Amino acid sequence: MGQEDEDMIQILIQPTADMVHSLMADTDDQETMAFWHGREVPEVAARRLDVYVERVESLIRERWPADEIQLTVSGEQLRCGGATRPSAYAVDHDHDEDPQEALEEISGRAWMAACEAEIAACECGRATGTACAWQGRAGELVAIEWMPEYLRESHQRAGNMGVWPHNGAMLLRVSPSCAEEFEREEPEWTRRRGQEIAP
Ligand SMILES: [Zn+2]
Repeated sequence: MGQEDEDMIQILIQPTADMVHSLMADTDDQETMAFWHGREVPEVAARRLDVYVERVESLIRERWPADEIQLTVSGEQLRCGGATRPSAYAVDHDHDEDPQEALEEISGRAWMAACEAEIAACECGRATGTACAWQGRAGELVAIEWMPEYLRESHQRAGNMGVWPHNGAMLLRVSPSCAEEFEREEPEWTRRRGQEIAP
């Protein structure tokens, strides 16, 4: 038997550029901020990163004995827009088999789960003043751009809704049913994210 740390795998968990990219795509400017491992990020991003780390940890513990794992979580790379290294990175290990491939598979699964599993509420209340009761997985939410009433007149004069975010529209993540309702009730002031600009 060797020394105590012979079979140690030192793992660094850090958000990659891809992850940061997808976090930002799902976040609007009006988001409240929070700290995640020393870095300021939108609250929704911090929540998802927490779920991700939780999943990574539990998957790692299923794969290797707890006493062989040393896990460090770092928010350092968030400042630079995400790490270029894998999100779960074997900094050092004494195993015969390189753990990196397994780590990347684990990290990928954890990230998917974190994106899907987040429990979210519908944001229709930010537009209507009264939120509906819908709750579900964040992955089900539909992003719409919605024009507040006070900005409509100027857009009407211009003859179009303009382009988000310059047009002042709010980016709302709403339930599928609320998205349909907005589209039905105010088709000229509602646009699904990524949809072509209506004439
Ligand atoms: Zn709603």
